[in-house]
Amino acid sequence: MLKFEFRPYTRRFRSLLLTRHGAWSVRQGILLRLSDSLGNQSWGEIAPIESFGSESFREALRFCADWFQAGSGRLDAETIEQIPAHLPACRFGFESAWEQLHTSETEQPPPISWSMSLLLPTGGAALDSPLLFSAQPGNTLKWKIGVAPIEQELDWFTELISLLSPTTKLRLDANGGLTWQQASRWLQVCDGYGIEFLEQPLPPQQFEAMLKLSQRYQTPIALDESVTSVAQLQDCYQRGWRGVFVIKAPIAGSPGQLRNFCQTHPLDLVWSSVFETVIARQYVTNYLMPACPTTRAIGFGVDQWFQDGWDRLGAAELWRSALTPLSRLSPF
Ligand SMILES: [Mg+2]
Repeated sequence: MLKFEFRPYTRRFRSLLLTRHGAWSVRQGILLRLSDSLGNQSWGEIAPIESFGSESFREALRFCADWFQAGSGRLDAETIEQIPAHLPACRFGFESAWEQLHTSETEQPPPISWSMSLLLPTGGAALDSPLLFSAQPGNTLKWKIGVAPIEQELDWFTELISLLSPTTKLRLDANGGLTWQQASRWLQVCDGYGIEFLEQPLPPQQFEAMLKLSQRYQTPIALDESVTSVAQLQDCYQRGWRGVFVIKAPIAGSPGQLRNFCQTHPLDLVWSSVFETVIARQYVTNYLMPACPTTRAIGFGVDQWFQDGWDRLGAAELWRSALTPLSRLSPF
């Protein structure tokens, strides 16, 4: 039996993050700390994104509070396996913390260094971003589309391309916000510029249409919202998807099942952020990515979106920074 504690956190974005799903101003999540009777500790993180189909922050918090009360803050491996499928971020948080507590350093694969994809501000603001000029040669930038009229976005796109160094790669992300005609238009343009890939052009329910698009254009298409959970990832693979898969491990459910599927299938992967803290990120980079490597830049270049300095902290310091312990939480 292990003891667990949890602490909710709130991080404010430096500026509003605009996507097709709306404007995001704060990132709320929950940090977990597990400890055994010998005093060993590990940390986990629950970082849900409701608009991507995971539980909401409040649902996750309610689950932690109820679970804490029911088991007096104690848990074992079986109880983690019983976390229901509609709470994938909770499953990730608890299972990843559990695994880290039960893995000695010598069992861990050595860390690998990865190239990073940096997220540009959305819309015309991208044209003024310092990232355009500070990116290292060979870096990858990502730009969200599908948030303004297509003619306007195509104009910005042409200007953006003209500002990039020839070695910088660009990937686009529509967050499922395009129509068939708009997606075709974007893909035609992308083919002319050698864009790395177009991410989630259509909503997840239009899987067949995306499959057709992927066969018509050279620019690869990446599924993101379509493959949020391990079950969806398996489903899209079985239905014939051989394009890119964007993996957001902290909302995918069981990390063990995710690793197993990725290790046993030849997937073209992009590991991607959900604006988590270093706690979830280090687990992904140290425990998942070495087991399922990819040559594509990882989508973790999001530190510049926060100004709280948390990215320079270790897990124990973060735990101290994320106050609001259970006893001080107002009813929710
Ligand atoms: Mg995406």
